[in-house]
Amino acid sequence: MASIDLINLTKTFGPATAVNDLTLNVRDNEFVALLGPSGCGKSTTMNMIAGIEHPTSGEIRFDGRDISGLPANKRGIGFVFQNYAIFTHLSVRENLAFALRVRGVPRQEINRRVADIAALMRLSDKLDRPSARLSVNEMQKLAIGRSAIAEPAIFLLDEPLSNVDAAFRAFMRTELKHLQHALKQTMVYVTHDQIEAMSLADRIAVMSNGVLQQFGTPEEVYNAPANTFVANFMGSPSMNLITAVVTEESGRTAMSFKNACNLALTADGPLATRLLSSKSREVTFGIRPEDVELADTSDPRPGLTLPATFVEPIGPRTTIHLGEGEVRMKVITEKRFRTGLGQALKIIMPEPKCHLFDTKSGAALR
Ligand code: ATP
Repeated sequence: MASIDLINLTKTFGPATAVNDLTLNVRDNEFVALLGPSGCGKSTTMNMIAGIEHPTSGEIRFDGRDISGLPANKRGIGFVFQNYAIFTHLSVRENLAFALRVRGVPRQEINRRVADIAALMRLSDKLDRPSARLSVNEMQKLAIGRSAIAEPAIFLLDEPLSNVDAAFRAFMRTELKHLQHALKQTMVYVTHDQIEAMSLADRIAVMSNGVLQQFGTPEEVYNAPANTFVANFMGSPSMNLITAVVTEESGRTAMSFKNACNLALTADGPLATRLLSSKSREVTFGIRPEDVELADTSDPRPGLTLPATFVEPIGPRTTIHLGEGEVRMKVITEKRFRTGLGQALKIIMPEPKCHLFDTKSGAALR
């Protein structure tokens, strides 16, 4: 068992607040990603869990037990950093065996566990190689294997794949998931890469400026972002976010986009209901580029007609940029889509796929 509770955790460095009142629960055997841009407090949070940094206030519990007074080496934690801490003067085998030797594990068991972890990390054929002669990718596999072999109840990984190449990163995402299933560890994984977080984590904690913005499954943070920060951070290309003014004309609710036509809404549709319940007259409207439908300008359905300004063919998909000034939209089409620059296109935005946010606070209007 190894659940982690962070309770009202705050860390300040002089006048700067790196982590601000963070409350988060990681369940036993769960894979949680801490995700956010550089400087948002991810590493500081990890360092506090590991015992490398001490919280300014708040509490950390493992399995319900307050471990604030416990030194790093007594916390039962494996930690893999961005800069793999391996002993370059030792062989791969000696690196893997190190933690077990220190603990006085019998030689036969060490051999068995080294063979097992080398197989898991696909390093079996490199065991007798001096680790200084490994490639960057292999070094990172060794760093992960070297921590995992001690079978810590809690495994912390801080951007372990940021130095490796893109192909290896994709490969390692799958390998790490296998590793977690095989070792049944509680994992906390720091990354600024939303693809990594989405593909690996059971739940994602999105952070910005030291503050937790949302904690949920990848589907929850992607499909129901709690605020405009999360909406903008998750997804590539990011969600279309446009300021709109709410109008009501003869019983019909509508959103008026600056310099563009109104988007009339059916009075009993989901968006209109949310608009009516929100008191604000100005809202931020959001829709993911893949949820927008492109149609002919003669299409009778309500929508926006905007000129195409830029077309980006990306393999099987095409991103079309539309509009100018304050109303700009990105649309992803599945097949290669041909359109001339400046050509007017109608975009249809299905109501169930639309998001609404309070413009001032950024909070989702649900
Ligand atoms: P990165 O991915 O760049 O490491 P991060 O999200 O992990 O970013 P942190 O490293 O936790 O963010 O830093 C959060 C904030 O705290 C930053 O503004 C950083 O400058 C500050 N900070 C972190 N460690 C210290 C320190 N030892 N002394 C002073 N400020 C610090």
